[in-house]
Order: sequence, then C-alpha cells, then structure tokens
Amino acid sequence: MPNQRKQTFDYEFGGPIGTLATMIFLPLVTLLLTYWASIGEIEFANILPASESCSSGGSYAFVRDMILGSNVLCPSCSDPQTVVFCAFVVLSWFGLQVLLERVLPGEIVLGAPLPDGSGKRLPYRINGHLAFWVTLLLLNVGWPRWVEVHNGGEAMSALVFGRVPLSWLYDYHSTLAFVTILWTILLSSYLFLRSFGKGFLLAAGGDSGNPIYDFFMGRELNPRWGTFDWKEFCELRPGLIGWMVLNMSMMFKQYERLGYVTGSMILINIFQGIYVWDALYQERAILTTMDITTDGFGFMLVFGDLAWVPFTYSLQARFLVDHDPHLHWSMLAAIVGVNIMGYLIFRGANGQKDAFRRNPDSPEVSHLTFLQTKRGTKLLTSGWWGLARKINYTGDWIMGLSWCMVCGFESIVPYYYAIYFAILLIHRSIRDDHMCQEKYGEDWNKYKSVVPYRFVPGLF
Ligand code: NDP
Repeated sequence: MPNQRKQTFDYEFGGPIGTLATMIFLPLVTLLLTYWASIGEIEFANILPASESCSSGGSYAFVRDMILGSNVLCPSCSDPQTVVFCAFVVLSWFGLQVLLERVLPGEIVLGAPLPDGSGKRLPYRINGHLAFWVTLLLLNVGWPRWVEVHNGGEAMSALVFGRVPLSWLYDYHSTLAFVTILWTILLSSYLFLRSFGKGFLLAAGGDSGNPIYDFFMGRELNPRWGTFDWKEFCELRPGLIGWMVLNMSMMFKQYERLGYVTGSMILINIFQGIYVWDALYQERAILTTMDITTDGFGFMLVFGDLAWVPFTYSLQARFLVDHDPHLHWSMLAAIVGVNIMGYLIFRGANGQKDAFRRNPDSPEVSHLTFLQTKRGTKLLTSGWWGLARKINYTGDWIMGLSWCMVCGFESIVPYYYAIYFAILLIHRSIRDDHMCQEKYGEDWNKYKSVVPYRFVPGLF
C-alpha cells in the first residue's frame, strides 16, 4: 500500500529533493541575510570557506565551516559560552510566551471543522493580543537589577526594576538566529516523531510516506499537549512578537550610537509594530487560514514561524542601524502614504471576508453579492473580493514594499523582503487556487469567470 500512496501523491515544493534543498538552503540564507544587512551589500568573498574543507569533508564540512569557520556569518557561534547563553535567552523567551498563553485570561473560540468529516471543531485559547501588551509592559518595567543606594551616608543594595537592555539583541543577532534555527530543527524532529503515535489526525499534504518530504510539510495537523496547540501558538507569538522586539532592539542600538533615532527607524518600528499588533488583535482570523486548517506542523511552518519571520523580517531595522539613508521628510511622508494604502487594502479585504463568513447578513457586508456554492459556503463576488481573487495579498505586498522603501534606494539588501514576499504570495495563491479547485470544482471555475483577475484588477 505505501508504494501505491507514493505513486499517486501530489508533491509540492519540488517533492523530496526540493524540500531537502529548501531545508539546507533557508537556514543558511537566514544567516546570510543578517550578515548582508550588517554590511549593506551582497557579498560572498568573505563567507566561503577554504576549498580544502569541501574536498576533504564534503558538503557537511563546507556548510559547517561556512557558519562556524568564516567568522563572518555568525561571529560568536564558535564560542560555546555565547551559544549556551543565547540558547538560554531563546528558550526563556519561548517559555515566557507559553506561560502568558497559559495564564492570561482568554476567550475560547472553536476552529473550522476538522477535514476528517467528523464535524468536530477544536477549541483555541485566544489571548494573543493581551500577551502582546503584557510582553511590552514586561520589556519596559520587568528587568530586575541590584543598585547601590545611599541612605544617610550608608550604602545599601536595592532591587529595582526597569527596561530590558534590548540593544544586546543587536550584538548577538546572528548567534540568536543560529540557536533559534537549531531549536526549530529539534522541535520539528519532536513533532515528526510524535506524529507516529496513535489517534493523531494527519495533514493530507504531509502524509506521502517519504520521511524527508513529510518532515518538511508536517504530518500531524494539530499537534497538542492537552489544550495547548503548538501550531496556533507558534504561528502568532514567539516569532511574531519576537520580530517586533528585535526591531525595538535595533532602535535602541541606533539611539545608543547616535544619541537620536532616525525617521526611517521610527517608521519601520511603527509600520511593522502595527502589522504584528494587527495579526494578534485579529487572532481568531488565523483559525480559518490554510496554515491552520490544511497544512501539517512540520519544518516548513516551525522554521518559518520561529526563525525566518523574526530574523529576516527584522532585516530593515537591522540595516538601518548601520546605514541611515537620510531620507527627506517629504519622501518619508510619501512612504507613509504607500503603507497606509497597502494597509487599507489588506485590512479591508481580510476584514470583509471574515465579517461575511461570520455573518453574511450583518449590515457591513449584507449589500455584497456572492456565489452560493454546492459545497455550502458562499464566495464573495463584489466589494474587495470582486476586484481580484487575491486582493488581500496585493495589499500585504504593498505594505511590505513600503518597509523596504524606508531604507532608501541605494542597496538591494532591504528589498529582499519585497522580492521574497512576491514569490511567496504568488506560490501561495497557486496552492490556494489548486485547493479551491478541488474543494469547489465547477463552482470555482464560475467564480473565476466572474472575478478574472488574481492580484490587480484589469492587469493580472
Ligand atoms: P486568504 O485569506 O486569501 O484565504 C483563502 C481562502 O479564503 C480560500 O481557500 C477560500 O477558503 C476563501 N475564499 C477565497 N475566495 C473567497 C471569496 N471570494 N469569498 C469568500 N471566501 C473566499 O489566504 P491566506 O490564509 O493565505 O492569507 C491570509 C492573510 O495572511 C493574507 O492577507 C496574506 O497576505 C497574509 N499572509 C502573510 C504572510 C506573511 O508572511 N506576512 C504569509 C501568509 C499569509 P474557503 O472558501 O474554504 O473558506
């Protein structure tokens, strides 16, 4: 039977070979990007190890020497003490977010019906927005330290609480990224092994029978410890809030160096801070996304959520510490305009679909036209969703472009995000189109004839 399953399996991401290459390539790219952001250009000469390491030890030695030996990609990674300390920081951060998820009050919301046909819906604890604000509060007032105070000429020690010295995160940026990558490999391995236990619901796309492919895609759909949902938690908290904290650390570092914070640095912190806040404020909307309803929780999402998002999405702020583009205020104002336009499209489209799916008769969406499908659900054919089938992606991309623009126009490095995100969104839209075709059949073709454009109305 396993052979039959493999022959008919519909592989994505280039199958086992493509996913293996991705798993080797993306961690390296994460470290490469942090290095390029620090020097402000794309450069290979200093990172490639001596040719002997390749000929004597093969590709493993080559990769190892590139990370540990070049002293460029991760300067502190060869120092065990720093690595252990960074591991402590990364795990403590993860532990703090788990604690907040467990102890803070939150509404229990049911997810979408499970795809096994049972009609069962899993309960989720929605308190990410509160966790976001409590984290910010703790970062501002939660750092304990002893200081010497003088009481009538007598010196005494006193415990005081203040702001966490975040600029430290800039100093150990690449080591923190390296340790986080190791953590994602460990976590994915645990999740992969536990998925072979009895009674777990497997994701259709992660059950090919090929261990490399399934490790990448994720076998188990909703890995849980009791009511703790690993996937929903990792999608929104340690990585996403961590991204914002890394941005803040870059801002503090810039202030330490210059004695002031530049307009570009303020804008990137505001833009991306709002993006993170928005995702947590709208936490329940994630329950109907492809990541939660369809994809298993494997290396692809674990690495993406915990390592790729915080360490590569914070690249613009990292770049700005060392390379201020000195943009004129009029240019900054124009970039704010681009950002607002992207945000209005992104939030307008996602909010409209969410409101419509929750209650199509609510006054804000009751005027919209829709296609009633045989599957039972309704597809919007006017409003934002009548303009283009993935108009929400377009808004998201425009916002991303504004993040790159605050870094000026002299280096391509900060524009990595706009390039990478365009590829991600195009690929994701093809995956979603394929899944909708399977879900809706002829109805999907009808919908596509009513809304023919994918991203930009009238263009493509
Ligand atoms: P969507 O929010 O576009 O959801 C797609 C699903 O919506 C479809 O499978 C279908 O599911 C339903 N749908 C499609 N068309 C319609 C319609 N006309 N009317 C009603 N329902 C429809 O996709 P994602 O989950 O991929 O993305 C959510 C947001 O997250 C996006 O804005 C995206 O930009 C963002 N994102 C950001 C990332 C980042 O790294 N910054 C990464 C990935 C996403 P069904 O009918 O079965 O409900």
